[in-house]
Amino acid sequence: MHSQAHTGSYYAATVNAPTDYPPLDGDQRTDVCIIGAGFTGISTGLFLAERGYQVCIVEANKVGWGASGRNGGQLIHGIPGEKVIARKLGKDIEEVFGELRWAGHAIIRERVEKYSIDCDLKFGYLDVASKPRHLRAFEIDQRRLQAARFPHELRLLNAADTAELVGSDVYVGGLVNMGNGHLHPLNLCIGEARAAESLGAKIHEQTPAERIVHGPKPQVVTASGTITADAVVLAGNAYHLLENKLRGSMFPVNSYIIATEPLADDVVARLNPRDLAICDQNFAVQYFRMSADKRLLFGGRASYFGHDPDVIKRSHVPKMLKIYPQLQGARIDYAWGGTIGVPVNRVPQLGRTGDNVYYCQGYSGHGVNTTHLAGRIMADAVAGTLEHFDMFANVRPVIVPGAYRLRRPLVSLAMLYYRLRDRL
Ligand SMILES: Cc1cc2nc3c(=O)[nH]c(=O)nc-3n(C[C@H](O)[C@H](O)[C@H](O)COP(=O)(O)OP(=O)(O)OC[C@H]3O[C@@H](n4cnc5c(N)ncnc54)[C@H](O)[C@@H]3O)c2cc1C
Repeated sequence: MHSQAHTGSYYAATVNAPTDYPPLDGDQRTDVCIIGAGFTGISTGLFLAERGYQVCIVEANKVGWGASGRNGGQLIHGIPGEKVIARKLGKDIEEVFGELRWAGHAIIRERVEKYSIDCDLKFGYLDVASKPRHLRAFEIDQRRLQAARFPHELRLLNAADTAELVGSDVYVGGLVNMGNGHLHPLNLCIGEARAAESLGAKIHEQTPAERIVHGPKPQVVTASGTITADAVVLAGNAYHLLENKLRGSMFPVNSYIIATEPLADDVVARLNPRDLAICDQNFAVQYFRMSADKRLLFGGRASYFGHDPDVIKRSHVPKMLKIYPQLQGARIDYAWGGTIGVPVNRVPQLGRTGDNVYYCQGYSGHGVNTTHLAGRIMADAVAGTLEHFDMFANVRPVIVPGAYRLRRPLVSLAMLYYRLRDRL
């Protein structure tokens, strides 16, 4: 296992202050050892450190190296798979989840204020509809949120009003939601890591966990030392290097983003006058927004599995130009990708591989919010409060034999199937 530097993303290029935590050296003892320093691991670690636990986080590469430092930065409410859980319990989503659907937003907002994290957090979101059936889904969402006394602007738009906000007439309508938003995910993740460190958490980068010795005091073994803990939390998500069983229960799906050069103010004023994060409703989803320095960040899925920036540009530029032909000729400064863990039933997977070894993974494309909630749930679980943990843990993951080994052909097939469905 060789440690890697950050991918060539816009985020890595604009990080406030790069991290340089020392690799583990020798044997340590701690209350909780966390494996993986993405949002799941860091959020869990920060909650535990705030509650006075000794925490040690080992990261194979860099803080925020995985999906957490590469994503679209779209802060979206709701929990993937919530419908599955609500249906299982025979209740409405709001009844089961209520504030939990927004908990990640509140956690992020509080941390940004409390720890002065500079991560371009901004509220404002627009779901766009490519088809009338998407609009019908927006109406249901709007009714549900209004019934729950949603405190922010929530407005259905017709095609003309949507075009005003998107600077493009390719959509049939939209739903403005000023409770959702966008942010610089790598700066958030690093800011939270520094907050945890300020409360005594130890972080070791370039320290892949190689195995776990289970027992009353589980031990995390790395090439340069061991950590013995009362509890271990596995937070490697789609980049998991351990525990084959966990890798096989979700599909690793890649998503890719391009970033244009900074655009002129008058262009930005036409493309996105309210500075909203925008997302369509297709399975092969497209999402885009302006960065703080006025680049268009344009993302979408692909069945490609590599990381060649030229291939990513060739795939994404034509898609971007279909929406924004006026960007023909705009320079593309960055192109990168990352891997999302997608469980078959979409329900985030929280559970244990031993009495005191927990895991938490599989948020599909909705991880910015959900990982922060997950951090709170995992910290509660370690402290002995299992109510929310059990709600997820009681849903059995759907296991597809060979899901990890055969991931490329299976994901390519699934992408093809859903692309066809998107056309209907
Ligand atoms: C391109 C892209 C766009 C996305 N856009 C959005 C979006 O706009 N909004 C949204 O809500 N979600 C989005 N997502 C999803 C979201 O980013 C993820 O759900 C979330 O970041 C997962 O966080 P995590 O901490 O669980 O995993 P990760 O961030 O992937 O972190 C896992 C970490 O564990 C480490 N690790 C793994 N194994 C070991 C080991 N054995 N030892 C030590 N370390 C280990 C890895 O190096 C990695 O750093 C997107 C994802 C991608 C890839």
